[in-house]
Amino acid sequence: MTCRCGNTDLGYDPEKKIFYCKNCKSEVEIDPEKKITAAMYIVQKGTVDGINHSNLGELNNIKSSIEDFDLQIKENLEKNLKNDLMKVLMRLKTGERLNEKDVETLRYFFIGDADYYVKEDFSGTIRNIKKTLESIKYYSKREDAISLSRLRASLKTLKNDLNSIITYLECRERIENFEKNIDNIEKNRKMLIYVLEQKLKP
Ligand SMILES: [Zn+2]
Repeated sequence: MTCRCGNTDLGYDPEKKIFYCKNCKSEVEIDPEKKITAAMYIVQKGTVDGINHSNLGELNNIKSSIEDFDLQIKENLEKNLKNDLMKVLMRLKTGERLNEKDVETLRYFFIGDADYYVKEDFSGTIRNIKKTLESIKYYSKREDAISLSRLRASLKTLKNDLNSIITYLECRERIENFEKNIDNIEKNRKMLIYVLEQKLKP
C-alpha cells in the first residue's frame, strides 16, 4: 500500500473513515481485498509506536478505529460464508434438517468471535482483580490523602479489568443463546430465515 508520493506509512482517520498518507496527508484509496491487511498493519504499527513513544493521540486513534476495522472484518467474514449461508437458507425454507456443516456455518456467522474470545486466558486478569480488591479493602479503612488517592487508582484498575470480564461474560451469554436457539430450530426457523434473507439480499 503506497501513496502517490511514494510513502508507505499509512494512517486511518476514524472520523472521516478514510485511509490517508502520513507523509502528504492525502487520502489513499485501498483495494477492497487489501483493506484488512492495511488496517491490521495500522493497528500493529500504531500500537507499538504509540506505546514506545508514549503517544496518547496515536493510541486513542487506534482505539477509535478498532470498531470500523472490526466491521470491515465482519463484512468480509459474511462474504466468505455467503455460499454456505445460502445453502442453509434453502434448507430452512424447504423444511429440511440442517446438517453439521450448516450449524457450523451459522455458528461462525453468529458467534465466531465470541467462540474465540472465551478461549483467551483470563487468569492474569482474575489475579489482578483479587489483588486490587485486597488493596481496596486495606485502604478503605483509612482517610488520609495517600490512602484516598490509592483507592482512586485501584478503582481505575478495577474498572479496566472488569471490562475484560464483562466482555467475556457477554460472549458466553451469546454462545449459550445461540446453542439454545439452534437446539430449538423449529421454533426459530422463521426468525432465522428472516435474518438470513436480510443479510443475503443482493
Ligand atoms: Zn503521500
